[in-house]
Amino acid sequence: MKISLIIPCYNEEESLPALYTAIQDVAKTMKKYEFELLFIDDGSKDNTLKMLKEYAESDKRVKYLSFSRNFGKESAMYAGFCNATGDFVAVMDADMQDPPSLLPQMMEIIEGGEYDSVATRRVTRQGEPKIRSFFARGFYKLMGKISDVDIVDGARDFRLMTRAMVDAIVSMNEVNRFSKGIFGWIGFRTYWLPYENVERVAGESKWSFWKLLKYSMDGIIGFSDTPLKIASWSGIFFTFLSVIAMLVVFIKALAFGDPVAGWPSTICIILLVAGVQLFCLGIMGQYISKIFRESKRRPQYIIKDTNKKDVVRK
Ligand code: UDP
Ligand code: MG
Repeated sequence: MKISLIIPCYNEEESLPALYTAIQDVAKTMKKYEFELLFIDDGSKDNTLKMLKEYAESDKRVKYLSFSRNFGKESAMYAGFCNATGDFVAVMDADMQDPPSLLPQMMEIIEGGEYDSVATRRVTRQGEPKIRSFFARGFYKLMGKISDVDIVDGARDFRLMTRAMVDAIVSMNEVNRFSKGIFGWIGFRTYWLPYENVERVAGESKWSFWKLLKYSMDGIIGFSDTPLKIASWSGIFFTFLSVIAMLVVFIKALAFGDPVAGWPSTICIILLVAGVQLFCLGIMGQYISKIFRESKRRPQYIIKDTNKKDVVRK
């Protein structure tokens, strides 16, 4: 039986040595299994690729795919899923925040046969900026309420799954990818393994606040049509309101005549309604832009360099 580890790396030269050693150590304790270490170099500008090539030279288990530019972690994971050959597949960050030492325990749970995947969730977020934790928590709550998939708070992308589940993920070939939503959407039985947050071994987080905000918008738009509903409900609300307002104005004019007054309130109403309209148009635009991207069917990643024989390009 073979376990494939998919490891997306973007400028990870500082964390790779620690990770590689840690994986070698775990692999030694799991003699039953063959390993495939599938590193995805997501257009790194540092020595990541060079280091991967060095590892690959001395270690047959090491495979790498190197992208022509930075396509983002989602594309890197997808490339990994498309190219992993193991009977079991795990996604793992390069910075040791997804501790490789959890693998034996995860494998044991899968071997029990009751679950198709073992996912991990952080029960703490220490070491992370407070403001980031606050928004992350809020996002998971919101997602749980408005989308068709349930996302556990603190859920990581770090999970081990069976081949059947991986094939299902590969079949979800949407361009706007949000893996946590995809994992939830395809179903299967998942065991949630809690663990304490671990800080990055080296280097810095590759996600800026804006990158995360954009990513969370992708998640919401990809897995929920609640924003569209909000747009139509606010449309209905304002239509209703304007009918009442018209009646009031009409009756008032009949009863008290029509002295020309009240332009400040008129301006206020015009501004408010124009604002709501633009807001709703914006929501619509978000969905349309996603449709536009999907319809172009551009490749999700471009591989420039690899030591794998038959690479799958999608
Ligand atoms: N990553 C990537 N492409 C990107 C950003 C990140 O492949 O554009 C990888 C990164 O190398 C790491 C993982 O995704 O292995 C998680 O990134 P990071 O640790 O920076 O995120 P955080 O843990 O802070 O959420
Ligand atoms: Mg990290």
